[in-house]
Amino acid sequence: MEGVSGTLTLQGRVRAPMAAEASPSGRLFLITGPSGVGKGTLVAALLQRHPEIWLSISTTTRAPRSGEVDGQHYFFLERAAFEAKVAQGGLLEWAEFAGNCYGTPRDPVEEQLKAGRPVLLEIELEGARQVRRSFPSGFQIFIKPPSFEELERRIRGRGTDSEEAITRRLERARVELQAESEFDAVLVNADLEKALSELEQLMGLA
Ligand code: ADP
Ligand code: 5GP
Repeated sequence: MEGVSGTLTLQGRVRAPMAAEASPSGRLFLITGPSGVGKGTLVAALLQRHPEIWLSISTTTRAPRSGEVDGQHYFFLERAAFEAKVAQGGLLEWAEFAGNCYGTPRDPVEEQLKAGRPVLLEIELEGARQVRRSFPSGFQIFIKPPSFEELERRIRGRGTDSEEAITRRLERARVELQAESEFDAVLVNADLEKALSELEQLMGLA
């Protein structure tokens, strides 16, 4: 992968980003990208600047990391409870990632969209593909690292994952990085401030 700093590419497949003057209300935005690329960091900064955006809280079978709060970072569930939610049709999408299940609760997303709020999902590739089918008008952004080596440095530097989890996440990252051309836009997270303003531009918030 070439280490182009701050490159923002709009893919040919889809729509242009939101015009700056257009209201993004009621629109579904989705961010994906390999683990450790900085999705969570970018999303937290985006929400600070734009509290009108509603971020979906996912449900997961992963154990909470230190500092993670149930109902705030995720809804943490046992696998049986997660499977029950799937069986009830309660998830808009779900996927297994690095040995754990993750899914987007359906009702809150539909309620927020109906209320006219911009809705943001931060999920992995398989889930993004499912959402593309159910919300073809959603705008999907792929975040990529300046290089694979930098991605590994960030996952390790974060200090939240076991060696086994890091290996699984990096293996999965190689697959995910092949999928960037499926997305409406690709954003390189090299310099954080630059990436944030590019994200705002893509979402029509700048
Ligand atoms: P993700 O949510 O994609 O798994 P995180 O947001 O947890 O990734 O970021 C992984 C690590 O990389 C964190 O330690 C974060 O502070 C760091 N990070 C995020 N963006 C950048 C950046 N642009 N430059 C350097 N480090 C970054
Ligand atoms: P983490 O364990 O690092 O919090 O998340 C691992 C991966 O799961 C990340 O790529 C994250 O975007 C993704 N993820 C988080 N929530 C969901 C979800 O609801 N559905 C799907 N498909 N992936 C999710």
